[in-house]
Amino acid sequence: MLNNIRCGTCSALLFKAGQGAIANDIEIKCRRCGTLNHLRPCEPLHDRQERPKRNNSCGSTSP
Ligand SMILES: [Zn+2]
Repeated sequence: MLNNIRCGTCSALLFKAGQGAIANDIEIKCRRCGTLNHLRPCEPLHDRQERPKRNNSCGSTSP
């Protein structure tokens, strides 16, 4: 089953995607109005990983 992915501004049909076809973030520019639509995978179970912990180790400069 395909879902119609539409532009958020003018509702033009951007593309069709099957369930699970979007595995990561997608940016697609609408050909009609030029809006850059940012799509992300819409999974029903989104409250599973709610960002586990705030870990500041990334980019830390302290030894
Ligand atoms: Zn548009």
